[in-house]
Amino acid sequence: MSTRRLLIIGGSDGGIMAALRARELDPDIDVTVMLADAYPNFSICGLPYLISGEVGHWRNLAHRTTADLEATGMTLALDTTAERIAATDHQVLARTASGDELTFDYDKLIVATGAVSARPPIAGLDRLGVSDGLHLLHTMGDAFAVQSTIEHRQPESAIIVGAGYIGLEMAEGLTTRGLQVTVIERLPEVLPTVDPQLGEVVRQQLTDNGVKVMTNTAVSALTKLDNGNLCVHTADDACHEAGLVLVVTGVKPDVDLAVSAGATLGYGGAIAVDRRMQTGAPDIYAAGDCVHTHHRLMPAPTYLPLGTTAHKQGRVAGENAIGGDTEFAGSLGTQVVKIFELVAARTGLKDIEATAAGYRPHTTAASPDDHKAYYPGSHPIDIRVTGDTTTGRLLGAQLVGHRHSEIAKRVDTYATALFHEMTAADVERLDLSYTPPLGSPYDAVQVAAQRWVADQRALSAPT
Ligand SMILES: Cc1cc2nc3c(=O)[nH]c(=O)nc-3n(C[C@H](O)[C@H](O)[C@H](O)COP(=O)(O)OP(=O)(O)OC[C@H]3O[C@@H](n4cnc5c(N)ncnc54)[C@H](O)[C@@H]3O)c2cc1C
Repeated sequence: MSTRRLLIIGGSDGGIMAALRARELDPDIDVTVMLADAYPNFSICGLPYLISGEVGHWRNLAHRTTADLEATGMTLALDTTAERIAATDHQVLARTASGDELTFDYDKLIVATGAVSARPPIAGLDRLGVSDGLHLLHTMGDAFAVQSTIEHRQPESAIIVGAGYIGLEMAEGLTTRGLQVTVIERLPEVLPTVDPQLGEVVRQQLTDNGVKVMTNTAVSALTKLDNGNLCVHTADDACHEAGLVLVVTGVKPDVDLAVSAGATLGYGGAIAVDRRMQTGAPDIYAAGDCVHTHHRLMPAPTYLPLGTTAHKQGRVAGENAIGGDTEFAGSLGTQVVKIFELVAARTGLKDIEATAAGYRPHTTAASPDDHKAYYPGSHPIDIRVTGDTTTGRLLGAQLVGHRHSEIAKRVDTYATALFHEMTAADVERLDLSYTPPLGSPYDAVQVAAQRWVADQRALSAPT
């Protein structure tokens, strides 16, 4: 069937990218994007900076305005929630915010419903809500609710449950707003996406900036106190009191609609798609946080809910849904986060993940300077490089350093090397730039790779 009507459920990174790509390739295609709220193409990655006050107005978070999007020729159905996909009839049944029922016909459908905040098994989490000062953070509405609690209840303190990257961005954001922040994490170290040796550096940065950090601490329940504050109960029977509690323990793919249309589930309960972003259901594609993710270094899909990935998958889905033939190249899980004056980043696999993927990994640590030490303002960067001891292939890198040490672009050098299946020795040979105020003849990225190669030589030398 030729595609004349492309319907997309979801108006965030994945859905809008799909719509833009389809309209770009074929201006005659009728593209409709339906979204449950009124914020198409808003950067939810920027929510911590809206709450901190560094982004002055919520409208500034729009990647593109509604007018920009409509100027491309797409139709936006705002405040419209898809309730059912009638796959055999090629229809989606939806309801507007005012309760009206609508039916949308499609030739091809793209599901980009994203993810919802995980709700860990904490007693009281379902009973309490934003009016009690209890918050999740995934949507524009969630951010407005946090802003409202800060402005109207003026809490002096906040407890953040979860020390992943969103928890840490919010620790900084709420500290900036003048709240006394405590972060509670179940695992032994903060930022578990990097090795604990680097998590420890991040923890120090948090405490240096007045954030109280409690690790190895499980939250068992939440209750409301007579003074209006919330009590966060931990497994040791202690009650930690705060006026605002934010639970940010990850996300869960939003898959119910797609499943009801016949899509099957893959890794982590996300929608199974092939590299063309096609689900198992006829004429239905899916992209973004609702799908599992093909990884360039792993034999089977994984789940990596990231804006970078959602953008690329959306473009692939949009192109293929209108008759194109392209594939998602796969993710490396490249990510970066700023925590006060520090930046932490990773790409590829950590040791334990590499072992699970069938490699024989080894990880080495190095702390090269970001630029020549004789030029003022140099800082060491903590870098951990993981490579395969059998082939020498680079498998991953983790970096923590000063916010002015170009950590994001340095992790991208490793990501580029990983994408092209380079060895650690290849990284050492790259022709990278140098001037004393910004780098070294061998950049920090290369010094750490050299350390890995030297370690291998030492380990394999006859004793
Ligand atoms: C605070 C925060 C910070 C982040 N920071 C980063 C970062 O720095 N870097 C990074 O790479 N990633 C970051 N992410 C992750 C990134 O934002 C997500 O990976 C990305 O937004 C996923 O896009 P998506 O389109 O798949 O889904 P979502 O953004 O979850 O959007 C889902 C869309 O589907 C719509 N929808 C859902 N159900 C229905 C329905 N039934 N009917 C109609 N519409 C529906 C919603 O209204 C929404 O428009 C961050 C996320 C958060 C919450």
